[in-house]
Amino acid sequence: MSAKASASPGRYNPNITPWVVGMHAALDSPRVQKVVCMKSAQVAWTDGVLLNYIGRRIDTDPCPMILMFAKEKSAKKFNLEKFEPMVEVTPRLLAKVPVHAGRDRNNLWDHKNFTRGFLKFITSNAPDDVKSTPAPVVAVEEPDDANQNVREQGDSITLLEERNKSYSDSRRKVIFGGTPTIDGFSRIQQAYEASDQRRYLVPCPDCSEEHELAWENVGWLEDADAAHEVFGLARPESAWYACPHCGSTWDDAVRVRAARHGRWVATAAFHGTAGFRINELVSPFPGSRLAELVKKWLTAEKALRAGDDTKMRSFVNNSQGRPYRYRSELPETDILAERALPYAVFTVPAAALVLTIGIDVQHDRLAVIIRAWGRGEESWLVLWDEIYGNVLEQGQDPLAGGVWGALTELLTLAYRHENGWSLRIKAASIDSSDGSTSDAVYKYVRAAQRRGIHIMAVKGGTDAGSEIFSVPKASVDSVRNNSKAAKYGLRPFIVGVSKAKDLILENRLKLTGDGPGRMHWYRDVRADYLAQLTAEVKVPGRVGSKRIWQKKAGARNEALDAEVYALHAARSIKTHLMLEAHWLLEQQRVSQVSLFDAVPVVEALPGAQVLEPASDPPPDPDISVDVDSDVETIEQKHQPETPPLSGVSRNQARRFTRSTYLGR
Ligand SMILES: [Zn+2]
Repeated sequence: MSAKASASPGRYNPNITPWVVGMHAALDSPRVQKVVCMKSAQVAWTDGVLLNYIGRRIDTDPCPMILMFAKEKSAKKFNLEKFEPMVEVTPRLLAKVPVHAGRDRNNLWDHKNFTRGFLKFITSNAPDDVKSTPAPVVAVEEPDDANQNVREQGDSITLLEERNKSYSDSRRKVIFGGTPTIDGFSRIQQAYEASDQRRYLVPCPDCSEEHELAWENVGWLEDADAAHEVFGLARPESAWYACPHCGSTWDDAVRVRAARHGRWVATAAFHGTAGFRINELVSPFPGSRLAELVKKWLTAEKALRAGDDTKMRSFVNNSQGRPYRYRSELPETDILAERALPYAVFTVPAAALVLTIGIDVQHDRLAVIIRAWGRGEESWLVLWDEIYGNVLEQGQDPLAGGVWGALTELLTLAYRHENGWSLRIKAASIDSSDGSTSDAVYKYVRAAQRRGIHIMAVKGGTDAGSEIFSVPKASVDSVRNNSKAAKYGLRPFIVGVSKAKDLILENRLKLTGDGPGRMHWYRDVRADYLAQLTAEVKVPGRVGSKRIWQKKAGARNEALDAEVYALHAARSIKTHLMLEAHWLLEQQRVSQVSLFDAVPVVEALPGAQVLEPASDPPPDPDISVDVDSDVETIEQKHQPETPPLSGVSRNQARRFTRSTYLGR
C-alpha cells in the first residue's frame, strides 16, 4: 500500500479487513465467472480487492484487462490515486509496468502495456471504448452510475459482458463492485440478487451465535436534560452494538475484533456468480466508529423530517450498503383491485359519453387501452388487452390484415353503452417512438387519417414540463428524429408523459369513490393490468436530484403507457375543458344512436387477421376487409370524406359479427 493511497502504508494486511480473503478466493476460482460486491463505503473493496487482484494478475498471471468507470474523472482518479501509487511502491510491478515512461505509447494514462497483456481504463459513455477489444478480465466500478444506453446502442455493461463471453468460462472473469442506489433500479442490487448471495456472518464473543451486522442492532442513550440542535436528546457517544441473540452490548473495539472472525455464507444457489454484500459496521476505520455512524443517522433523520431525503439516501447506500427504497404512495394493487366495478369488458358505463383509445406499439403486439370519459374526466376502462402479431407485416392496404386490421376494427366499430346506445372511438393516439416500428405506424396513421379516423402518431416527451397534449410545432419537422414522420406527411404529437403520469399515478389513482378524475376499471380486467399501471416510481434521475418516472427493474408497463396515450387522445378533444352544456350536447348526440341502427358493436378482441398476399393487385377504391375466416367478408364503401366522429357510420355496413346481441 502506498502512503498516497492509504493511511496505513506498507504491505496490504488482510487481517485488518479479513472479509476480502473470501472475495479473493472467488476471484481466483476457475468455477467463478463473475464476482459481485454490493457494498457500503469503508470496506476496502477498491484497495483491498480490485487493486490487489489487478496487481497480482499483472505480476503472476498477466492477460488483457478492462476496467470500466462511469466517468473519465473517476478513471483518472483511480489511475492517479490508486493504480500508479501501487505500482510505485511494488518493485515487482514497477519492473513490469513503466508508470514513469513519459510519452511512451505503451504507457498512456488509460492504456498500460505489459508482457502478455494490458490494462485499459474505459468509460461507460464512450461507445467505441465499450465495443473495443474484448478481454478475459473485465471490471465495472460502480455499475449503478454506468451509462444505460450507449448512444442508443444498448447498455454499456451488457455490451462489455457480451464481449467477455468469447473466452472460456474457466478463464474469463467479470467483476462488479459498487454501492447500491435505488431499490428496484440498482444494477449492483440486481447482480447481487442473481448471485449466490453471500453474507458475512460474525460470531458474538459472548454467545458465539453468528449474524450479519445490521444497523437495527445499534443503540444509544438519550439525555432528557440536554437537547442537541441536530441530535435532539440522543447522545451519539453512548452508542453500542447489541448482539441480536444474547443482547450483550459491544463497543467499537469488541465490534472490530468480532468482525475479524467472520465468515462468508452463501444464501442462494451458485450458478457461476459469487455475490458478496457488506456494510460499514464491519469497518475498523476511525470514520466508521459507532458514534460517527449514529451522528450521520440522526442528521439524516432530521433532514428527512424536514422533507429532504438526500442524507438518508446517502446513509442507507453508503453506510448500510443497501439500496434506498422509495415508498410509492400508491395503494397496493390488491387494494386497487377491490375498487373494480361490476360491468363487463367492451361496455361503456352509463355516465360515460366519450371514448378514446391509446395504443402502445411493441414488435410483436399492440397493447391497447380503451377508456370512456364522462364529466370532470371521470373515466372507465373499456378494454385493456394486447393484439399479438408482427407489427412490421402490413398489407397493401395498411388498414387491413394482421394486427393493423384488428386495430381498424377497434377504431371503426361501435361499443355498447349501458343505456342501450352505441358509441364509437372519438380520438386515438398511437406510439411512434420506436425507430424500428415507426414506419409501420406512420403508414397506418396516414391511411387511417385519410379514411377520416382521428388518430395521432405520438412520441413521449422527455421534458418534465411538457403539457399532456400540445399541437406539434412546425419546427419539429426539421429535427432529425422526425424526418421519418415527415416522409409520411405527418408530425408526431409530443406527449407530456411526465405530467400525464403525475396526474394518473400521483393524483387520480389515489382518489376513491365516484366523481371528477376518478379512474375505474371492470372486475374481470386482465390480471396484469394493475401491476403494469403501477409499474413506475418517481425516483431521482441520473442528473441532479430531480425525480423522474422510471420503470421498476424487470417490470412491464405497457398498460401505463397506453393509458397515457388514451389520456392524450382525450385531451386532444378537450375532455378536461368540456362544460355541462357540452356534455349534454354529447349525450343528446350519443342517445340518438341506438344499438340497432349503428355499425356493429365490438364483442370480443379481434385477433390479428390473415394478410392478403403481397402479389395482389393494388386495391381499388372499394376496400374489402378480411375478418376472421369464420366471419363473412364485408365490403366497405370507400369514404373520401370524414365520417362522423361518433354515432352512425355513413357506411351502414352490411356487416355481420358473431354477436348474438345483434342477431336477435
Ligand atoms: Zn451474543
